[in-house]
Amino acid sequence: MTTTRRGKDGEARTVIDRREFIGGVVATTLLGSPARSATASVAEASSSTKDGTAAPAASGTDGSDYPPALSGLRGQYPGSFEIAHEARDGQFSGPVSAEDTGEQYDLVVVGGGISGLSSAYFFRQALGADRKVLILDNHDDFGGHAKRNEFHHDGRMYLAFGGTMSIETPFPYSYTAKTLISELGIDVSSYQKHLDHDVYQGLETGVFFDREHFDGDRLVAGMGTRPWPKLFAQAPLSPRVRSDLTRLHTETVDYLPGLSVSEKIEALKHMSYQDYLLKHAGVLPQSLPFFAGESFRNNMRVDTCPAYTAFRYGAIGFAGSKLPPDPIYDETKYNFHFPDGNATIARLLVSRLVPSVFSGEPSVESIVTARADYQALDQANHPTRIRLKSTVIRVEHLGSPANPSGVRIVYMRDGRAHQVVADNVVMACFNNIVRFIVPGLPEEQKRALAYPSKVPLYYTNVLLRNWEPWKKLGVKEIHAPNGYHTFSMLNIPVSLGEYRCPADPREPTVVWMVRNPNKPGLSRKEQQRVARAEMMSTPFERIEREIHSQLDRMLGRGGFDARRDILDLTVNRWAHGYAYTYDTLGDPDMPDAERPHVIGRRAFGRIAIANADAGAAAFTNVAIDQAQRAIQDCLLSRGLT
Ligand SMILES: Cc1cc2nc3c(=O)[nH]c(=O)nc-3n(C[C@H](O)[C@H](O)[C@H](O)COP(=O)(O)OP(=O)(O)OC[C@H]3O[C@@H](n4cnc5c(N)ncnc54)[C@H](O)[C@@H]3O)c2cc1C
Repeated sequence: MTTTRRGKDGEARTVIDRREFIGGVVATTLLGSPARSATASVAEASSSTKDGTAAPAASGTDGSDYPPALSGLRGQYPGSFEIAHEARDGQFSGPVSAEDTGEQYDLVVVGGGISGLSSAYFFRQALGADRKVLILDNHDDFGGHAKRNEFHHDGRMYLAFGGTMSIETPFPYSYTAKTLISELGIDVSSYQKHLDHDVYQGLETGVFFDREHFDGDRLVAGMGTRPWPKLFAQAPLSPRVRSDLTRLHTETVDYLPGLSVSEKIEALKHMSYQDYLLKHAGVLPQSLPFFAGESFRNNMRVDTCPAYTAFRYGAIGFAGSKLPPDPIYDETKYNFHFPDGNATIARLLVSRLVPSVFSGEPSVESIVTARADYQALDQANHPTRIRLKSTVIRVEHLGSPANPSGVRIVYMRDGRAHQVVADNVVMACFNNIVRFIVPGLPEEQKRALAYPSKVPLYYTNVLLRNWEPWKKLGVKEIHAPNGYHTFSMLNIPVSLGEYRCPADPREPTVVWMVRNPNKPGLSRKEQQRVARAEMMSTPFERIEREIHSQLDRMLGRGGFDARRDILDLTVNRWAHGYAYTYDTLGDPDMPDAERPHVIGRRAFGRIAIANADAGAAAFTNVAIDQAQRAIQDCLLSRGLT
């Protein structure tokens, strides 16, 4: 919506490089009926896990078990999180015994996401690259949310982002974050050079109107580029809904007459966007499904998003309000998208921390196609080691937190508990599990750590045989307000180093789809809790069927046939996705120092706390800044700054 409706930069905007699009602002969708799938063999090989979710057998698209090339259910995949849930459920609350590895470190980092990797980077920068550092992560791949998806087909590699999409931000990158990006060799200003602006020439943004909510299934191209009356004229809408939506999108009416600007802002802050549409803009309830897919930042839906936030994101319906512009995104943006998203940042960090993982010191160009040697991550002769498939269940001081002789860290790997000792620990994992792992924390801090609720979402990548149906239908991306996935788009056309984005519609390509499960009518946090539970109990086969059905319905008129045209797919399940954004429109307004994430991230003896959660904002720069702050805490705890 941001882009296509109000058009901060004028009119039809290329949305493809803005995550807000998806997880963010725009969004309008649809759904489907079961079909037997080309990828069904993956589902058939499923095994059941504790949470009841079918676990597709690891399926390497390159024939190996190389983590980025595994398709099926990824992200927080079955097998990665069960121990953490046991910790949450109190199964390790008493004394925890473990096999002593005899390993001693200067620093142990819990969590191998961008914040954890950056913590190790900053620590080495402060104290020397020869310091002994161990990074522990529960997944089979590093990067946390910044995950790479690879598909291999007919000898060619197709890259996609499994999570963290781009360098982009509503908050300017700090000096620290910018410096790190630049030290990794990333020249953000060069982005346009790598983006092929011609690939999708002539293709527009489509909206899929579904028969369950409108008068039939139809994909209409031209959202944001065609005049709204023309777009709605082609849509399968009843005359009343058509006229209602057309008027809302075209008229310049002040829906809060008689209020001053400041009174309007105050009023909008205290009502949902849905209430604004229904009660003030006079939108018909039957028109609301058009807005159903909109997910403003942090999974704020039409029913939970404050109207003022919707306005700031560029939502429709404020043209006559005469409110001063207050965009959340700054157009002088710092933006860069790698073919695998910010997984490249994670890979670059790993290449600096453990040089033998990639041969030589890879450049920003060469790392895009470079293969990581996962065996090299954890070698005794390297000062920094990254140990995967290792879930930390206990972190405790040896001695009193004020004057400890060290910190004991226990993790589960291959069904056994192991322990290492460190001078300092950075908890760069999700903050709300920290209270179960560090039992010695003060109660006030534990309560604060329990406050946030991460946003659940799926990032799904589908490898298609070709994208001719898209071309035929004139679309490069589709909003489906009521769809299983509410937004789908063809791969962002970035070519970097030896990697070439698919540029010919006859070639295979990756379509990226996003789903924000939710439960309208509940509070934002409650919607997230219910959605997480839904995600954990939804088998892969169901998601796969929905994808087949949805793509068939959206693209069928263009000749698409899911059974034939879907070559492979990876569903990245992020039940614990975006960091919870603390927002005084929904959360209690209080001084910064008293906010839950600020209390929650306090250093506890030799244990410091990082992760984007500690900054209460789901952004890469926040993860980096929090890493730097946590390392300062570590140094302070040893009287080193
Ligand atoms: C789908 C998605 C898309 C996003 N897109 C963007 C974007 O485009 N731009 C942007 O700036 N930001 C984006 N973000 C925000 C993103 O979260 C941050 O950018 C950043 O990657 C977060 O890094 P982190 O290290 O703080 O946390 P994480 O990436 O979550 O890393 C924490 C790691 O700790 C592990 N862990 C947890 N508990 C334990 C334990 N007990 N033992 C061991 N390991 C544990 C976790 O499994 C995880 O691997 C996105 C987030 C998501 C989920």
